[in-house]
Amino acid sequence: MGDLDGVQPHCPHCGTVMIDDRRGFWCENCQHLEDHSAEFDAVVLPTEFDGPSIQGG
Ligand SMILES: [Zn+2]
Repeated sequence: MGDLDGVQPHCPHCGTVMIDDRRGFWCENCQHLEDHSAEFDAVVLPTEFDGPSIQGG
C-alpha cells in the first residue's frame, strides 16, 4: 500500500488533506478554500464533444 495514490494537496493552514472542489480544493477542517478557478478558466475546453452522448435519461 502506498500513500502516493493520487496527488492530493494539503491545507496550508492545518495540514489536512484537502477535498476536491469545483473551484479548486477545500479543507473540511478549517474551511479554507484554495480557489483555482482562475487557472481552470485559462484552460479552454472544446465546445464540441467528439464522442457518444452522455445525456442519458
Ligand atoms: Zn485547513
